Amino acid sequence: MNDYDLLVVGSANADLVIGVERRPAPGETVLGSDLAVHPGGKGANQAVAAARLGARTALLARVGDDAHGRLLLESQRAAGVDTGGVLVGGAPTGVALITVDPSGDNSIVVSPGANARLTPEDVRAAGDLLAGAGVVSAQLEIPLETVAEVVRARAAGARFVLNPSPPAPLPPDVLAACDPLVVNEHEARFVLGDAAGHGPEDWARALLALGPRSVVVTLGAEGALVAEGGTGASAVRVPSPRVDAVDTTGAGDAFTAALAWRLSLGEDLATAAAFAVRVGAAAVTREGAQASFPTAEEVSAL
Ligand code: ADP
Repeated sequence: MNDYDLLVVGSANADLVIGVERRPAPGETVLGSDLAVHPGGKGANQAVAAARLGARTALLARVGDDAHGRLLLESQRAAGVDTGGVLVGGAPTGVALITVDPSGDNSIVVSPGANARLTPEDVRAAGDLLAGAGVVSAQLEIPLETVAEVVRARAAGARFVLNPSPPAPLPPDVLAACDPLVVNEHEARFVLGDAAGHGPEDWARALLALGPRSVVVTLGAEGALVAEGGTGASAVRVPSPRVDAVDTTGAGDAFTAALAWRLSLGEDLATAAAFAVRVGAAAVTREGAQASFPTAEEVSAL
């Protein structure tokens, strides 16, 4: 048996949130609400989401030797994530400076900080973690060369799941390893560029042609579409349960973590996605990112 169901390799950020009546013009100062500080970053979010569902989860990430780094480690441990692979120091913890206006629109400045210092060498030094995971999940808030090293260094037979967010051009060896490549509409359009086509089925077909073993397109309230390469089978729609959405922050991270975990248990892609859409739906019924992620009991109750 593997040591972990899921190893997440990715970012950890402190989200610093201030509500404003309106955004300042250049040179102007405006007053805002009290500051709220939340643990975030796609890697940290995925790890918390998986562990809260009951997955045996480890995180490989880098934070600064500062208060934000300690907040992130604490939130991981509270969810049950093994943080032995979280490296400390080298730069300040990554930060997202977020202003929210009364209509709910966000303006965000990200300082990658320590996330940008998670190197291929760090991945090679984490050989035991990589050898012990049935599924390895990554995103693109860490250097692409680090993600490429994860693809090379993971255990033989370990499944690789990638959410290319924020979207960036992907090298062929990374694309070919994805099983699945998980994209929302925005990411699908970025990866495909002019070849995008007209709808999710077109996107899935065109994405598969780029080389991944399988593709999942998330479709917000519509759920997801899954497609596997090489089988000749057509794409399958996986509808999401209807819920009253309050805040969709982190829904994609919760979905991807749940999907990766269920794949590690041996479920096929459509079955794992059917679970993951329920996790994503549950996450949008509550405010926040990590704070909104459900337990397995809450998913069953949905
Ligand atoms: P992202 O958060 O990356 O933009 P999506 O918006 O596609 O990704 O959401 C990811 C998943 O979260 C969806 O596949 C779905 O399961 C769930 N989800 C998101 N928004 C809603 C919603 N309004 N109602 C129900 N489920 C939702």
